[in-house]
Amino acid sequence: MSKAPEAELPRSVDPYRLAERQTVLEGELPLEKLSRFSEAVSGFGEAAVCQVKLSFSQDSERRRIVSGELEAPVLLECQRCMTDMPALVASRFVLGLVTSDEQASQLPKELEPFQTDDFSADLWQMAEDELLLALPPFPLHERNECPATPELEALEADADDSEKSGVEAGETEKDNPFSVLAGLRVKKKH
Ligand SMILES: [Zn+2]
Repeated sequence: MSKAPEAELPRSVDPYRLAERQTVLEGELPLEKLSRFSEAVSGFGEAAVCQVKLSFSQDSERRRIVSGELEAPVLLECQRCMTDMPALVASRFVLGLVTSDEQASQLPKELEPFQTDDFSADLWQMAEDELLLALPPFPLHERNECPATPELEALEADADDSEKSGVEAGETEKDNPFSVLAGLRVKKKH
């Protein structure tokens, strides 16, 4: 398969023809052209691009499938110290192409539907949707790289003290910011 990694990913394609021909598209997508994603991150370098690889195919039941890989270097705000840190947003996904809600409801569970027109699909929108899904909900520096670590350790020392004095101070997994969220989620389940 020939490839030209520096080329911009085409925006509008006929995905059904690409699927019939088992085409692989590789290209770059300038992050500044993805307005929703740009707003969702703290920033990115000048001329930063998302690397995209999309493989179009058909399965045994003639469903049209797109398997994709994405990688975008961005800045995310660490939720412990609130400063920006470099991060690589990466995603691998498999989508079933559909032209109606009815078709979408018939897809097997392992395929996420991506709705297209009869003869065209917006690959930029596809890539941007997947990048947004791949954003970490709670980005954090590695603990030893986070400027807020000394403060955090002081807080934890306090928490240890209150535990000793019988005050409820949460679970033992203080390192894990998700443990609190996980607890909430369980309680909210109906
Ligand atoms: Zn941090």
